[in-house]
Order: sequence, then structure tokens, then C-alpha cells
Amino acid sequence: MKTTQRPAIPQVEKLISSDELTLWISRISRPLVIAIIRKELEAIRKTWQKSGEIPGESDMIDRIAAACERQYRQRPIRVINCSGVLIHTNLGRAPLNRQVWDAVQAANTRYTALEYALEEGKRGQRNALFSPLFAELTGAEGAVVVNNNAAALFLILSTFAQGKEVIVSRGELVQIGGGFRIPEILEQSGATLVPVGTTNITTCADYLAAVTERTALVLKVHRSNFAIRGFTEEPSTAELASALPKKIMLVVDQGSGVLSSSTVPGETSVTEHIHAGASLVSFSGDKVLGSVQAGCIVGKRELLTPLETHPLYRVLRPGKTVATLLEQTLICQLNGELSTPLCMAKRDIAELRAMGEAIITDLPADRVSLIEAPMTLGGGSAPDEYIFGIAIKLTLLDSAEQMVKLLRNRVIPIIGKVEHDSVLLHLGAVDAEEAAIIRTELKHLFGV
Ligand SMILES: *Cc1c(COP(=O)(O)O)cnc(C)c1O
Repeated sequence: MKTTQRPAIPQVEKLISSDELTLWISRISRPLVIAIIRKELEAIRKTWQKSGEIPGESDMIDRIAAACERQYRQRPIRVINCSGVLIHTNLGRAPLNRQVWDAVQAANTRYTALEYALEEGKRGQRNALFSPLFAELTGAEGAVVVNNNAAALFLILSTFAQGKEVIVSRGELVQIGGGFRIPEILEQSGATLVPVGTTNITTCADYLAAVTERTALVLKVHRSNFAIRGFTEEPSTAELASALPKKIMLVVDQGSGVLSSSTVPGETSVTEHIHAGASLVSFSGDKVLGSVQAGCIVGKRELLTPLETHPLYRVLRPGKTVATLLEQTLICQLNGELSTPLCMAKRDIAELRAMGEAIITDLPADRVSLIEAPMTLGGGSAPDEYIFGIAIKLTLLDSAEQMVKLLRNRVIPIIGKVEHDSVLLHLGAVDAEEAAIIRTELKHLFGV
């Protein structure tokens, strides 16, 4: 419509009370919806000044709804993980067990005795249950919990190594994920890095030769996201623990949170490091442990107390939500439940195949098939190991990149993986409800 006199643009209040936009109020809040409406109306006015064109009201509402949706999708909205990585840091790592979530409701929607000694009626200890729970799970004397594993390492280094030296193998000066580099964390904590050995070979003798008066500790870092193969050598935790002088601590950044031996091939568990004589072991709460984002430190009581009383602990300690969720996960696991990522890793292939077949029934057989496709556990564990899995393979005329994007842009995004000219939808992390959603989306994609 081209006119010289600008047609009336609807009022903000009128627009926001339309059904399409009311929906977004609960999703991103009324003030944000209003701000988006104002911005879109401003753009519409500008376009009118330039071209004399003005969209009709329902087009305006569509535009505003689309802008609301873009804003909404910046949130950590629910997605379906078909990436082939069970613990994917960009997808929020491990999903929580629903039972765990339900069990902590009261503690989070009521007042709690978070830091209150009920018997004495005064301030008490926070998270008193972590120590006995982790002691049972790992054989350590106790535990301290902070916000993530990076914080755990930072607290350990700041407490014990500030102004002192920390010995690390050159093969373990690693970067894990975005922005976590061992040399940088060391520097931030005020410790001096003493690198020893070479990328592939570091011996016990290398560590011992680097020990000086100023040495605070030896740090062993798990190579979480890569493997070194071939001509390699490194001392075990046991060898190092017995070779090092008694006053030098041996700290292990285990990373993945595999608690007991033989659950994940190729991983040395927290328990094994503790039994081998590590002074402190740190790991994430939301990797193989399958709980919330947290950094767990287990080890000798005499070393845990200085961590809890260091001023930084006050900065890094988790709140009640994280504390109660982590605690509840540990209780479930002590009562015999497997962590969610380990459950997924051990799923029955026949069951996965049946689920896959149900999803693709009646879809064009020349475009959709089931294949055997290896998955990884991810989350800083077993970088070199694959888990047997089943995936839906999609080959369309469009490019695979386009197709994977299309699936990602659905209301509930499906995160697939491009392999050669196809899209793979790995099913190892998919439950029955999600399978139904995938089926609906694929039917939509194929127009059947
Ligand atoms: C994952 C990982 C970290 C970082 O842990 P966050 O919980 O993400 O802070 C540090 N070290 C190792 C070895 C890891 O695998």
C-alpha cells in the first residue's frame, strides 16, 4: 500500500494483547515483548518514510513474534541431542535424573537448614553431607564442592601454591573446552609453573629432578579431549605418590568424574587415584557423574579444611539448588542407580534399533535408513573410545548442512551431525518422547 499520509500504526497495548504475542509474555517477560514491539514499530516507521510501504497488522504481528522467538531461543531452551556425543558441553552436558529433580523440590521452594545447626539453633556447616557421601563413593576422607572443576583447581592452587612452584608434565599443559588452559589457571592463582618432561614422555625422575624448596605440589591433569598414542610414557599416580617427598602434595585433575573403576574403558577413576595415594582429586559434577555443574574435590581431611576456610571458598561455593541436586544424585548412585550418561552408554542396541525403526516407518526408504554409528561419551572422558550406537541416516537432495540447520530451527531443535553428504541423527541419547518428536519432524520434512 503506497500513500503519502502514513496509515495508523497500531498501539503497543493493542498489539501485545493479540493472542500470538501474549504467548511470549510468559516466555521472555512483558517488558521485553514491549521493547521488541517498540523496536519493530520504529523500523516499520522508518521503512514507511523511505518507501511509503507499510505492512498490514497481521504481518506486523508475525514480524514481532519472530523477533520474540529469536530472543527466546537465546535461552537454554530444550533440545534433542542427536549429536553422537552423550555429554556435550554446548548442550548442557549431562541431563539430570528426573527423580533427583523431584526429590529436591521442597528444599528449594521452602526455607532450608542450609547452613544452620538444628540441634544448637545457630549457624552450622554447609553441605555437611557431601563428605560422607563422597567418602563412600570414592574411598576419600571427605569432600569440598565448588561451582565447577575450573574453580576447584583454582581454589586448590590458590590455597596451596600461591607464590610457590607447581610441577606439571609438558604432555598435560592442555586446553579443555573454551578458555580453560592449565598454564593460565596456574598463573591466575599466583603459582609458578614448572614444566617437566616432553609432550610424549615424562618420567618419575623428571618430576623428582624438578622438586625444589619452593615446590608446593605436583599436578596431574587428565587429557580429556585428546589422546597421545605410540611412543609414550608417564608414571602412574601410585608411582608418583610413592616417589615424591612426603611434603609435596600430589593433586590430580581427573576431570570426567568417573567414580569407580571399569565403568568407562580407558579412564582412571577418582577412586583409583585416591587409592593410589593422590592427596586431592578434582572433577566436574556434570560430566560422567551426571549431576549439576559443580566442581568436586575429594581427598585427605587435613587438606580439605584449608580449602573450606580459604576466603576464595566463599566466592566459589555453590548455592542450595546445586548443593541439594548434587547431594541427591550421590544418594541415588549409592543406592545403586547408574548416572544418566552411563545409563545411555549402556543402552541395549536392539532396543535402540527398534526405536529407530519406529521413527522411520513409512518414510521414504531411499532417503532414510538406520545405520550402526559409533558415539562418544564426551564430557572429558575416554577421548579415544567409541560406544556402539544406532543412527538415522538422512540423505536429501538439499545439502546436508541445510538439512541439519532445518532440524536445528524447529520449535524443539534437533541437533544432528553432518557426515559426508548425509545427516546422522544418533539415537543413543534419545528417549521415547523425543523419538515421537523426531518422527513428527521427519514426516514434516518429507511432507508425508
Ligand atoms: C572438564 C574438565 C575441566 C573443566 O571442568 P569444568 O567443570 O567445566 O570447570 C578441567 N579439567 C579437566 C581434566 C576436565 O576434563
